[in-house]
Amino acid sequence: MQILKGDLSNVKGIPPSGLCVGVHRAGAVHQKMVAKHGDGLAVWSLRPDLDFIAFKKEGLGEQGIRSTSDMESIDAGEKLIYGVRGAPPEVREKAREKGLTLLADATCPFVTQQEEAEIELLNAGCHLVVLSSRTHHGIPRLKGIAQAKGKEVFIVEREEEVESIRLTRFEPIGVIVQTTFWLETYKKIIARILERFANVQIRNTACIDSLQRLPEVEKLAKQVDAIIVFGWTEGMTTRMVEVARAFNAHVHKIEKVDDLRLDWLRGKEKVGIIGANETPEWMINEAWRPDLCPK
Ligand code: SF4
Repeated sequence: MQILKGDLSNVKGIPPSGLCVGVHRAGAVHQKMVAKHGDGLAVWSLRPDLDFIAFKKEGLGEQGIRSTSDMESIDAGEKLIYGVRGAPPEVREKAREKGLTLLADATCPFVTQQEEAEIELLNAGCHLVVLSSRTHHGIPRLKGIAQAKGKEVFIVEREEEVESIRLTRFEPIGVIVQTTFWLETYKKIIARILERFANVQIRNTACIDSLQRLPEVEKLAKQVDAIIVFGWTEGMTTRMVEVARAFNAHVHKIEKVDDLRLDWLRGKEKVGIIGANETPEWMINEAWRPDLCPK
């Protein structure tokens, strides 16, 4: 059996760590802050359980820095950092009210770009349509921004859901996209929106990692008999599995090396493995051990 590893090393926009730009950058910000300030750093995060997994080898999260989604738990003696997934307006407001010292904002630049596009569309008087899965952690953040401007957000995940948007043909709508969204799904939904509505503004807020990593999943899925997606992120991992399933009937997701099951590999000539945006290269190499392969 041959194992093919998704090769992201020469893909534009994906750092050598294998992580996406946003996570790679956030890790660097956190490490720099720990080195500079030592103890007493609190990261406010939408997913505190995930923040330091990718940086286990660097020891991030073991001392000096902690991650929480509870602003009340951060006391005046701690210095604040916003995590990679951004922070809703009410969280930022709360931090100001508490007088916390904001040391760094590690929000992914693509998340910031998405927020800016949303604000621009809302300021232009548009109703907001977000192409996204309903359960994505970014939704409360986007809803919070819209609510602050007295607007509702319509979430659309599939083509047929366009019919249920409670707006009339000539009302202005602004469309933004979950940063981790597959372009093929996006194109189908947009086509349906343009059929139904006359006054539409679109901002493609998909991040570079979606635009680059997902085509690599497609390429690998087409080459192998089975494919393993190694990741745990709600957005990118889910999207990678969706893309892989469109091209391969044998798709498996693992969140850790121990999840790998040998019966998935038996009888297969070629098996692919590819990491998601928070899965560092060294973790893929740990899973991709030749001695795991059935003879
Ligand atoms: S997956 Fe995209 S939006 Fe999310 S953190 Fe990475 S680069 Fe940013």
